[in-house]
Amino acid sequence: MLIQDKKIAIVGGGPGGLTLARLLQRRGATVQVYERDVNKGVRVQGATLDLHEESGLEAIRQAGLLDAFRANYRPGADKIRIVDPHGAVLFDDNFNADDQLFRPEIDRGPLRNLLLESLQPGTVVWNSHLVALTPQGDSWKLAFQNGTSAAADLVIAADGANSKIRPLITPIKPFYSGVTIVEGTVYHSEKAVPRIHQLLNGGKIFALGDSKTLIVSSKGDGSLVFYTGCKTDEDWVHRSGIDFTDRARVTAWFRQEFTGWDTLWLELFENAEGGFIPRPQYCMPLDQTWETLPNLTMLGDAAHLMPPYAGEGVNMAMLDALELSDCLTNSECPDLRTALMAYETRMRARASEIARMTLEQTRQLHSGQGLARMLEMFA
Ligand SMILES: Cc1cc2nc3c(=O)[nH]c(=O)nc-3n(C[C@H](O)[C@H](O)[C@H](O)COP(=O)(O)OP(=O)(O)OC[C@H]3O[C@@H](n4cnc5c(N)ncnc54)[C@H](O)[C@@H]3O)c2cc1C
Repeated sequence: MLIQDKKIAIVGGGPGGLTLARLLQRRGATVQVYERDVNKGVRVQGATLDLHEESGLEAIRQAGLLDAFRANYRPGADKIRIVDPHGAVLFDDNFNADDQLFRPEIDRGPLRNLLLESLQPGTVVWNSHLVALTPQGDSWKLAFQNGTSAAADLVIAADGANSKIRPLITPIKPFYSGVTIVEGTVYHSEKAVPRIHQLLNGGKIFALGDSKTLIVSSKGDGSLVFYTGCKTDEDWVHRSGIDFTDRARVTAWFRQEFTGWDTLWLELFENAEGGFIPRPQYCMPLDQTWETLPNLTMLGDAAHLMPPYAGEGVNMAMLDALELSDCLTNSECPDLRTALMAYETRMRARASEIARMTLEQTRQLHSGQGLARMLEMFA
C-alpha cells in the first residue's frame, strides 16, 4: 500500500478531516488529526446538516458508521416550511425514507462526536493550531501555536475556509459571491421564541422576499440557529460599523434592512445569545487548477469553498475524504503523487459543477423571484 509505514497528518478535525481519518484507519494507515479547538468539549456551532445519499451518507456507509448515524440523526428534522416575509406558509412538507428528496438531518455536534468515537484513542491532537508548515527533505514539519511541533510524510489540509495550508498548494483565492450572512443562535427556543418554535415544528423554515433570505433551523438540543442572507458589498461587515456582539444594534439593523417583514422575525434577534457572526460568502473559482504536489493535498472547504445555499459543503468534504482514501489505498497507483493527482482531478471537476449550481441557486434565491424559485424547486 502506498501509505504503508507513512505518517499522515490531517490538519483540521471538521467533518472532512475526521471522515478521512476514520476511512484511512480502517485501511490500516497511521493517522493523526491536528485540531485547533482546545478539546472535544468545545461547543460545535452551526445549523443542522442534511447528508446526501451519494456523498455524505455514502462516506458514512463506507466508514462503517451507518448504525452510529442512525442512532444520532434527527428523524423528522428534514421538515421544511417555505414562508413569505409575513410568515404565511406556502409549502409545508417532510419526506419519508423512500422519497427521492429524503435527506436525513444530523446536528454538527453529534456528527463530530460519532466520527471522533470511531477513531483509535489519541488520534486527534487537540489544541494544535497550525501556524507553519515547512518542508524537511521528503517530509513536513508542522508547527503549532502552543509551541509544539510534529513531523509527517503526507499532509492533508482539512482546515476549512481560511486554510493556512492552501497557499502552499495554490495562490488561487476565493471570490466574493455577493451575499453576506448574519448568523445567530437562540437557546431554549420553545421558551424564548414560542411562535417561531411552533412554526419550525422541529424542522427548517425558509423565509424569502425582497431579494433576501432568512433560514431558521431547529437543533436537537432545543436551540435554533438562524441566518439572514442579503446582497451586500464585499466589505459591508466593516463598512457598516455594526458591532456584531451588540444585540440591540444588530436588531436595529435587521428592523431596517427587513422593513415590511413581520415583527415575528424580530423575536429571533431580540432573543439571540452569544453574539452574531457576520459571514461574507466566498466561492473558489470554478476553473481553478494547480500542479499536484508529491505529499501535500487538501479537501473540503479548504479546496472548494462555496456558499451554503445548496447544502453541499459538508457532503462534498465527506465525499472528498472517501475519494481521497480510495486513491491513497489503491494498489494500482504507482506512487503517492499519481494517487493525489487522480484524487485532485476528480475532486476539482465535481466541486466545480456543484459550485456552479450553488452560485446559480444563491443568485436566484436572492433575486426578486427568490420565493417563487424556492417553491418551484420543491414543487
Ligand atoms: C451558515 C452556514 C450554513 C451551512 N449549512 C450547510 C448545510 O446545511 N449543509 C452542508 O453540507 N454544508 C453547510 N455549510 C457548509 C459547511 O459548514 C462546510 O462546507 C463544512 O463544514 C466543510 O467541512 P470541512 O471539514 O472542510 O471544514 P470545517 O468544517 O470548517 O472544519 C475545519 C476544521 O479545521 C480546524 N482548523 C482551522 N484552522 C486550523 C488550523 N490552522 N490548525 C488546526 N486546525 C484548524 C477548525 O477548527 C475546524 O474544526 C454551511 C456553512 C455555513 C457558514
